[in-house]
Amino acid sequence: VYILAIESSCDDTSAAVLQNGKVLSNVVANQKIHEAYGGVVPELASRAHQQNIVPVVHQALTIANIDKKQLTAIAFTRGPGLMGSLLVGTSFAKSLSLGLNIPLIEVNHMQAHILAHFIEDEAQSIPKFPFLGMTISGGHTQIVLVKDHFDMEVIGETLDDAVGEAYDKSGKILGLTYPAGPIIDKLAREGNPKAFPFPKPKAPGLNFSFSGLKTAILYFVQKQVKENPNFIEENLVDICASIQYTIVNIIIDKLKKASKETGIKTIAIGGGVSANSAIRKALKDGEQKYGWTAHIPKFAYTTDNAAMIGIVGYLKYLQEDFVDASISASSRIKI
Ligand code: ATP
Ligand code: FE
Repeated sequence: VYILAIESSCDDTSAAVLQNGKVLSNVVANQKIHEAYGGVVPELASRAHQQNIVPVVHQALTIANIDKKQLTAIAFTRGPGLMGSLLVGTSFAKSLSLGLNIPLIEVNHMQAHILAHFIEDEAQSIPKFPFLGMTISGGHTQIVLVKDHFDMEVIGETLDDAVGEAYDKSGKILGLTYPAGPIIDKLAREGNPKAFPFPKPKAPGLNFSFSGLKTAILYFVQKQVKENPNFIEENLVDICASIQYTIVNIIIDKLKKASKETGIKTIAIGGGVSANSAIRKALKDGEQKYGWTAHIPKFAYTTDNAAMIGIVGYLKYLQEDFVDASISASSRIKI
């Protein structure tokens, strides 16, 4: 079974070819254009997808050494995401499936961030059901009780900002370019995580809140800069380490609570922020500390990529879960 998968929900255009559960190619075109704006500009993202989609798909087929006539089915991200971005991938997938007369499979982007763990790859392991999926990305922060591939329930989520947003907005305050998550992660490794204690915002139950943290960081930095205009440059690594330390603690605390409440000790992280070195380490340490079985995705399957769309496509293909060309993109679909 050869699946061509297409992902265009936000600012990365991606195409992948999977042979059964294995990835033959996974091409991602990042959109540099948003760096200057400190965040994704939807109209520019949509236009960049239109420019990128044909060459990206072509490259994915070339690397996989597959002719499009050999494809078994097309999988695409239906949502959630930016409408203008989703429309590009959706329309492309629909027309290709019509042209080739092969099945079309819709994929939920947030399910895909979790099911990326089912890609067969030496660099990662496949979790056993039931497990807790922790999706930490640019738009979401969710604890998901995963009973089966397509039997998922959100048991906790953010009430305001996503954790990726907390990283990116903190970075903006510090004058870093978008997306700031990976930059903060890199700088944090050189700094003292306890240099500046930031408050951990409280949220009820298994929910999260990150907007208070961003405000605390903003006020703290503004106050310090008033006293010392060079405060940020002089303390950048310590500020980053302190932000990272606070965020990782918030996530691990809630995972401990979720694990205790559900009795489930198998935990799989996913989404762009699961690329974070401190989160990966804290999760691994949880195996010793709390008896967890930790599943940490391969880097290539953390931030947006079509390979994760392809594995969901394959799992749905096995169930013959197809859609017809009347399907439309949906920016707010739930897991
Ligand atoms: P969603 O999946 O919720 O629709 P998205 O697709 O925009 O959102 P992803 O591509 O999954 O998000 O993740 C992007 C986010 O991951 C950005 O906020 C980015 O800063 C963050 N990120 C990437 N690498 C790291 C890292 N090493 N440390 C912290 N954050 C990171
Ligand atoms: Fe994503």
